Amino acid sequence: LASILRVRVPDLVSKMKGLEFENISNDYIMDADTAGLIAEEYGFEVNQDDKLGADLFPSPEPKDKTSLKSRSPVVTIMGHVDHGKTTILDYFRRSSIAKDEKGGITQRIGAFVVKPKSSERSITFLDTPGHAAFLKMRERGANMTDIVVLVVAAEDSVMPQTIEAIKHTKSAGVPMIVAINKCDKPDANPDKVVADLSRNGVDVEDYGGEVPVIRISAKTGMGMKDLEETIITVAELLELKAETQNIPVEGWILESQVKHGLGNCATFLLKKGILKKGMILVAGTTWCKVRVMKDENGKSATQAKPAFPVEISGWKDIPEAGDFAIQAKNEAFAKKVVANRERRKQQLMEADQVEDMNNKRLKQVHDSERVEKIQEYQDEGFSMDEIKQLEPDLFETEKIQTKRVSYIIKADVSGSAEAVRQSIEGLGNDEVTAFVLYAEVGPPTESDIERAKSSGSTILVFNMKVARDIANSASSAGVKIQEFGVIYHLIESVVTTLTETLPVKF
Ligand code: GDP
Repeated sequence: LASILRVRVPDLVSKMKGLEFENISNDYIMDADTAGLIAEEYGFEVNQDDKLGADLFPSPEPKDKTSLKSRSPVVTIMGHVDHGKTTILDYFRRSSIAKDEKGGITQRIGAFVVKPKSSERSITFLDTPGHAAFLKMRERGANMTDIVVLVVAAEDSVMPQTIEAIKHTKSAGVPMIVAINKCDKPDANPDKVVADLSRNGVDVEDYGGEVPVIRISAKTGMGMKDLEETIITVAELLELKAETQNIPVEGWILESQVKHGLGNCATFLLKKGILKKGMILVAGTTWCKVRVMKDENGKSATQAKPAFPVEISGWKDIPEAGDFAIQAKNEAFAKKVVANRERRKQQLMEADQVEDMNNKRLKQVHDSERVEKIQEYQDEGFSMDEIKQLEPDLFETEKIQTKRVSYIIKADVSGSAEAVRQSIEGLGNDEVTAFVLYAEVGPPTESDIERAKSSGSTILVFNMKVARDIANSASSAGVKIQEFGVIYHLIESVVTTLTETLPVKF
């Protein structure tokens, strides 16, 4: 910027200090707005050419939290196959159907709401059992679960998918409730389950820990009330709140399908705002004008609030499960955003090809070096066995300790978060690779900085601005945040870092 403005760097720095910028150094990351502001200070006329084009972004968390409204918890049920996830969901779903409802057949829309008699609050259950769905959503940056209920069958105890579920829940930082199911069975041994869970790192209440353990039978209904109440209690401790007033609607797509007579339908779980008929939503590269909204009982709804799932028809294309959806002020803007995102998607695809090439190139370099070395030995008259003895590394590439360079990705939309992850994950060679800790939608937060610090990760921000206070606290935590608007540059920078990280060989 200094060279464009034809001023000396110290002049620029003192000007910035005059403008109350803090912690300025020569690697200070400056966004376009800031650069524009400073250029104007020097009397330049600023013409911002926004190459990224129109888009929609999640609103920042409000400073004043008093206007926030309490919301229901969103609960996911996880556990090993056949341990009773579906039966538990069915039990709760049945209890959610009003008595007067004919036949009481609910349609599955990806989530449903239960209103316990004992509480003012309701509970939203995500109806997509299995970790695959949870994981897929998380990978796409959709952190919609507030509480995980871990189901363990009392006669089987901890199984491989139970351990997997524990791992995912911990890495998501979501509180857990253990439901020991099938306690009606004669061979049920809930105490063994508790002991096994504790051995697998679950801080169970029975042993003085924080994780509640409820003994249930989804078949007979035993303990189910208790489970429901425990969910409410844990939710109350979490003090879940959402912004509802004067804010664009935001949320996630849970499921989508083409329905006969209705066309493209998708279930939308609100995170913020109040969804009303006539509003325009953009999700991924499709949009919709909300005309028909239905709850899980197929009843038409006039509005939906946070943590409340509704099925919406009228999408131009089918959005994807896990897509972040956000309100646009009108149809014209929605179309512009979609067109723009499509263009970027195309660019990202091209970047993917570039990345493939880069990968191959790095590997080729490595392979050719190995071949060359072996050749040198052979030229000197060594036999293959002798070379193996002298330089076992040349033959056992898998055994080489690969150094990982860890990244956290924060991107504007789930599609780009995923694309960035795919572009850099596995980039590198046998000695050093890029590793993605997680990829999420939304600007970097204090919690990202903490996780970056503890894991030694660099935060890559794609297509978004980094708030000044976040940039400051990252720099004082020694966490590197890098901003990119063009995927090629991002890949290039990662490749450079990897190259610099390559272990020196003696
Ligand atoms: P999922 O794979 O985890 O969704 O498990 P399901 O809900 O499909 O349950 C697997 C089997 O266990 C089914 O045959 C259920 O009827 C049975 N089951 C589920 N909960 C209970 C329970 O509390 N007691 C008994 N005896 N059987 C149960």
